[in-house]
Amino acid sequence: MRQNFDLHSHSNKSDGSFSPAELVEYAKKNSIKVLALTDHDTIDGIGEAVESGKKIGINVIAGVEVSVDFKPGSMHICGYNVDTDNSYLNDKLKSAQDSRKNRSGMIIDKLKSAGFYITPDEIKKVAGSGRISRSHFAQIMVEKGYVGTVEEAFDKYLAKGASCYVERVRLNIREAVKMIKEAGGKAVLAHPVQLKLESDEEYIRKFAELKEIGIEGIEAFSTYHSEEENQKFRQMAKELDLFVTGGSDFHGKIKPDVKLGVFGENVDVDIKELIKKLESGG
Ligand code: AMP
Ligand code: MN
Ligand code: MN
Ligand code: MN
Repeated sequence: MRQNFDLHSHSNKSDGSFSPAELVEYAKKNSIKVLALTDHDTIDGIGEAVESGKKIGINVIAGVEVSVDFKPGSMHICGYNVDTDNSYLNDKLKSAQDSRKNRSGMIIDKLKSAGFYITPDEIKKVAGSGRISRSHFAQIMVEKGYVGTVEEAFDKYLAKGASCYVERVRLNIREAVKMIKEAGGKAVLAHPVQLKLESDEEYIRKFAELKEIGIEGIEAFSTYHSEEENQKFRQMAKELDLFVTGGSDFHGKIKPDVKLGVFGENVDVDIKELIKKLESGG
């Protein structure tokens, strides 16, 4: 079922296919009233999205998504209501963006060894003004007929542990939380299933540890969760007194199966209350 809010979305400032203004217009068409733009490692799209939201009557929340060091899976943290002028935030994001640039050349080399030829110019063309992401490599591999789908590109070559994967320098969790808080924002753990922990007990322990570090909410409702997982993570978050959010991780055409506003069946999130929590000081 489609919700009237979505707290996880990407524009072409990272690896989404819509510009920030197009994304907000698309949200409007799909009856979304509250939209958070959470591009990877960049807040460049926020100004345009907020302005467009004001024009057409959508509450746009200034967000960002950062990947932090984690094993066995991946840990992504979303920051909400960040002050986009904050210099600490901007400096940290700049380092994350630099690490992406460095990695890009290394991925090109690895793909070449595997027989796939992608040039820096091709990457630049697809990424446009956005931050270079593995999704852009995947997209070009599909366009060139090297693989059938973006999923296949990740599974065989680009995913963690696959043959052309290249690590990049990431923030640690404490640095990420500090960065978000310095900018006045709220830190939320995105799509917990991607942590790939083995048991419910491990999830509960990890959530409690994250709360100690300063995480205030859990994206319990996510495209990547089964309905059972949605409800399980919701329950865990409630018990730990963490707030519950939901988001689709919309990327437009890059992830055509992900629909804006769709991230569960029984999404019992009171969006007005949640907005207050995301805005509250301290
Ligand atoms: P990067 O930030 O460059 O490391 O790329 C990570 C992005 O690639 C994620 O935000 C997703 O959008 C995308 N991604 C990662 N794993 C997969 C996958 N298995 N299938 C499709 N997209 C993926
Ligand atoms: Mn992405
Ligand atoms: Mn993510
Ligand atoms: Mn995302």
